[in-house]
Amino acid sequence: MSGWVAVAGLGPGGEALITLEVSAALAEATDIVGYGPYAARVAPREGLALHASDNRVELERAAFALGLAAEGRRVVVVSSGDPGVFAMASALFEALEAGPAGWRALDIRVLPGITAMLAAAARAGAPLGHDFCAINLSDNLKPWPLIERRLRLAAQADFAMAFYNPRSRARPEGFARALSVLREECGDARLVLFARAVSTPEETLRIVPLGEATAEMADMRTMVIVGSSRTRLIERPGAPILYTPRSAE
Ligand code: SAH
Repeated sequence: MSGWVAVAGLGPGGEALITLEVSAALAEATDIVGYGPYAARVAPREGLALHASDNRVELERAAFALGLAAEGRRVVVVSSGDPGVFAMASALFEALEAGPAGWRALDIRVLPGITAMLAAAARAGAPLGHDFCAINLSDNLKPWPLIERRLRLAAQADFAMAFYNPRSRARPEGFARALSVLREECGDARLVLFARAVSTPEETLRIVPLGEATAEMADMRTMVIVGSSRTRLIERPGAPILYTPRSAE
């Protein structure tokens, strides 16, 4: 039996948001490779080996998965959300580029998933309904000055902005700095969505003006979406709807 490797997105958390294609790959797999909490989302079964790893070893994990596939195993590398968004698909291709030439002949597929920003946006309404950008606020793999430059330029271009990895224990001050840069560029009235643990039982949504946003409102399970100058609320009984109209004027 010839091996393959699929890099699959498990979606934001809810079972109903896993695609049929990903479920089928999981059902055929002999091996699951991924960061512990993501690997733990795959139901154990006889004949399925779970290889859970630490968060910071993406390249090793990717090379390990390629090595297993080269031995003839059927490997699913799992990511949360979509595997191509700040996740394992790029790590796999970095390992492929640097690895033995023989790996390039392997059957490799990327199976998309519902990324956190789309799940969060859908819960709140349609804040990404006009032009938007996505920025990873983690400075693990890029320097802070580059993050700040991208924040300022995106704000000046009046994009709605979706922020992944807003805050970690390792760098609690980064997100506070990001908020003050955004206040300088967008003013205090700009609307901000904090969407935590979307599609899980712990889900919470909160919408505040930028002037009231604080760093403590986000953690590593939170997606932060800052609206454009056109983003607004529709008040109604219960939670308001946050949306961005389709036209710029
Ligand atoms: N590949 C993933 C993103 C990985 S980066 C995806 O496409 O969604 C991890 C960041 O994603 C977290 O810090 C958080 O900002 C966001 N995130 C992931 N799952 C989330 C969820 N269920 N609710 C809110 N944000 C989430």
